[in-house]
Amino acid sequence: MLEAKSPFELRVNLGKDLPETAVKDALASGDMGFLHSFTTGSTVDGPGVRVVAWTTGCGWRCQYCHNPDTWTMRNGIPVSVAKAVEELRKYRRGLQTMAGGLTISGGDPLMQDRFVVKLLAAARAMQVHTCIETNGYFGEKLSDAELATIDLVMLGIKTWDDERHTKLTGRPVERTLAFARRLSALRKPMWVRFVLVPGLTDDPEDIANIAKFAAGLGNVERVEVLPFHQMGRFKWEQLGMRYALDAVEAPSPEAVERACEIFRSAGLKAL
Ligand code: SF4
Repeated sequence: MLEAKSPFELRVNLGKDLPETAVKDALASGDMGFLHSFTTGSTVDGPGVRVVAWTTGCGWRCQYCHNPDTWTMRNGIPVSVAKAVEELRKYRRGLQTMAGGLTISGGDPLMQDRFVVKLLAAARAMQVHTCIETNGYFGEKLSDAELATIDLVMLGIKTWDDERHTKLTGRPVERTLAFARRLSALRKPMWVRFVLVPGLTDDPEDIANIAKFAAGLGNVERVEVLPFHQMGRFKWEQLGMRYALDAVEAPSPEAVERACEIFRSAGLKAL
């Protein structure tokens, strides 16, 4: 049963009983995926009112990640694509009426690219607006034809300086930027999501570099500056992992506004 659940609840080991071969088959065929949770009625994960499928699996290790339980794919519940589509179909009319759609987030959805592609194609076939939220690292797994089934990509750009990016996320930034350039060449509507973390991502010069890059792409419809928060701290504790940001406070509204202003002065819509 696919119940609506909050991504802010801790989930572990929901798919632990599945044999390794079944996991591999699922990933290869996309007939089954792993979902951390399934939210209805979201107004903060893309345009309008949305159903959000939160996938498990992420190869990054962002210091500020508020959903570290999504890192491990088998923490998610195994769901057939048929079941996910059946569930989505229930909300189809409402999503259309409320100018919303389906968002697939995570984790990083592109860890389960075949499942995601099938779900997006099914959503598109029922005329539901489609969106993915990703760090872009595995963007190359999607063909241009597959990208054509996505109406909007929300791309997380964490920071600009490569050394800082690697320290913050465990991965270099270049593949994210390459995916952004590809989306630009395809004229794919894109929103940039930027998490403002005091002391980690709030260097004005770094933000200005992201702003300059994003403005030059020509396909960025908006930038969302998301203030860091501590809502995920308990997950780190319960998973027995060392959390490095205990002492970091949420940025002030003024600091968020200053970051937005940097994006705006590059000609972008930022909020
Ligand atoms: S990319 Fe997203 S899900 Fe993955 S570690 Fe970073 S914040 Fe967490």
